[in-house]
Amino acid sequence: MANRTKAQRQLEEFSQQQSKPSEMTTSEGIPVDDKLNVITVGARGPLLMQDHVFIDEMAHFDRERVPERVVHAKGAGAFGYFEVTHDITRYCKAKVFEKVGKRTPLAVRFSTVGGESGSADTVRDPRGFAVKLYTDDGIWDLVGNNTPIFFIRDPMLFPNFIHTQKRNPVTHLKDADMFWDFISLRPETTHQVSFLFSDRGIPDGYRHMNGYGSHTFKMVNAKGSPIYCKFHYKTDLGIKNLPVDRAAQLAGSDPDYGIRDLYNAIAEGRFPSWTLYIQVMTFEQAEHFPFNPFDLTKIWPHSDFPLIPVGKFVLDRNPTNYFAEVEQIGFSPANMVPGIEPSPDKMLQGRLFSYDDTHRHRIGPNFSQLLVNQSKSHVANYQRDGPMCYDGNQHGAPNYYPNSFSGPQDNRKYAQSRYSVSGDVARYNSADEDNFTQVGDYWRKVLSEKEKQRLVENIAGHLKDALEFIQRRAVSNFSQADPEYGRRISELLEEYRREGKAPSSL
Ligand code: NDP
Repeated sequence: MANRTKAQRQLEEFSQQQSKPSEMTTSEGIPVDDKLNVITVGARGPLLMQDHVFIDEMAHFDRERVPERVVHAKGAGAFGYFEVTHDITRYCKAKVFEKVGKRTPLAVRFSTVGGESGSADTVRDPRGFAVKLYTDDGIWDLVGNNTPIFFIRDPMLFPNFIHTQKRNPVTHLKDADMFWDFISLRPETTHQVSFLFSDRGIPDGYRHMNGYGSHTFKMVNAKGSPIYCKFHYKTDLGIKNLPVDRAAQLAGSDPDYGIRDLYNAIAEGRFPSWTLYIQVMTFEQAEHFPFNPFDLTKIWPHSDFPLIPVGKFVLDRNPTNYFAEVEQIGFSPANMVPGIEPSPDKMLQGRLFSYDDTHRHRIGPNFSQLLVNQSKSHVANYQRDGPMCYDGNQHGAPNYYPNSFSGPQDNRKYAQSRYSVSGDVARYNSADEDNFTQVGDYWRKVLSEKEKQRLVENIAGHLKDALEFIQRRAVSNFSQADPEYGRRISELLEEYRREGKAPSSL
């Protein structure tokens, strides 16, 4: 069996590392006499409550699952480091960027978004690309995706948008009407939908795709001067996507294709890496920019805001245990270290609350004590108790603040940069903030003719299953980006209708 992969050999290799099996115990460390036979009254008699070996394991088994993530349920994780290759201290004082050559340990979780934890890795879906950096100033989570933009720009819409990517509440099936109804009613989705249905909508595993922090953030230097920034992490292996038919075949034959590919590459020493870049925009540029620079449905053009190299993410270690290190890892965009701050991006602001809230529900209020979530720099505060507090609960330190007994002190030197805002408090409608200019640029400037053809085929092939009035509304949005884009989708839909492939013709 010489050609078995590292993933297939995992158990063999574990066994080779053991000099002899360790002695089995209950969860309290009591030696176990027999783990193959329950205690009964006579050979054919009923079980006894006193069989603690059986009950201890069964009761634990009943509680093995934590709730699945509502989004990004299916994922793969790995560990490695970030290394600074270029000095950006003129923009940012964060210790992680302190000097060229500095390394900071990191964890990454890749994921699909809409599917359940058993769904296929090769579906058309954005991919999550979340990075946890264990910096000298605590955890910095850069919770990004493989696209520089998102479908919506107001977080009020997020739960509803996600519902349309999930299952119909009656049929429990994915539903083209739900999907395209929402998409076509919210034209700001047109840009991301045009990425999703392009070749990049089905990356070849996780190693051959880019990551983006997506939001606009703020960087602050040692003098306290702020600048807006975006993060791009580009794969050093080059972009590779799966053709639609190959992806569909893999969804049946190897639904864990992405996890397997990542595991084997790292286990065989072929460590994937990404080059981290930033784009920066001054406050003055932001004020005079033709569109809202905090709008998550838009990119910052490379020609105006060139990519500035910063360093490398390298993944060189697989998880030692999937549940402990990947299922229980908890990222939060709110984890920003001194030198990195939020911008007014509404979607970012909305996410600042939601992630920690999810982890408190999924894993428990002390999730940050778990090894994979723990800061590698010291943690000292006035939080106490709660379920599963296991780290000593800060021992004898005072549990109130202020105090006169040497409890941990706050320090104004870590204050975020000041900025002023003013305006009338209201719910501002942002539905119609130039939804199409950048989509048109993408269609005309970025895509080759072959890529355009695959894009319109992918869209029409999915849109054909929605009702005709929804199809028309969607086509109208694509046409506003570029008349040719909409026309070509419309022609394909007409073809499907003639061939009897669209439900509206039934
Ligand atoms: P550029 O020509 O400088 O950038 C185009 C970028 O498009 C490329 O650098 C690449 O981004 C990305 N790209 C290439 N092929 C595809 C594809 N099949 N699907 C999705 N993205 C692709 O022009 P601009 O910066 O002025 O942007 C023009 C348009 O390009 C934008 O409106 C946007 O739609 C798209 N784009 C721009 C990005 C940006 O951050 N400026 C990033 C991604 C897309 P990358 O280098 O990140 O791989």
